[in-house]
Amino acid sequence: MTNSREWLMQWLRDAHAMEEQAETMLKSQYDRLESYPGLRQRIGQHIEETKEQAKRLEQCLDRIGGGTSTMKDAGAKLMATAQGLSGIFAGDEVMKGSLASYTFEHMEIASYTMLIAAAEKCGEPEIQRACEQNLREEQEMASWLEKNLPAVTQQFMARDEKDADTAKR
Ligand code: MG
Ligand code: FE
Repeated sequence: MTNSREWLMQWLRDAHAMEEQAETMLKSQYDRLESYPGLRQRIGQHIEETKEQAKRLEQCLDRIGGGTSTMKDAGAKLMATAQGLSGIFAGDEVMKGSLASYTFEHMEIASYTMLIAAAEKCGEPEIQRACEQNLREEQEMASWLEKNLPAVTQQFMARDEKDADTAKR
């Protein structure tokens, strides 16, 4: 196998580990967003998209014989769980989670942009198309977050002030 194909395979595996981490992170946020139904619903949608993205990557790896056995990246999953839980007592966990999500989506956008170019170079149009689909979903999630962050921030502040008032009474 050529070096280029080896790199394509490696980056597909990295992307798969990234999606598993994404699923863990998104789920831990989803469980704690009862007070933010709009954000919660969008995250719920992206959890479903994320699962499909991981499947698409598995199909890509099957195509080029990359296998899937080395991808169960337990370390990455643990990290994601720790990140998910670290904000539990911070008070502004919804904001910390939003920062993490926005950052994560942009890492995914960069990963798929790389993978699309790599697949093109290797003459793998189906892998290219799968990565373009994943890229579109990440871009949509990132721009949804960008558009809705101001409202989420103000909801957070309003709720926090109300809580403070209640505590004083
Ligand atoms: Mg993703
Ligand atoms: Fe994503």
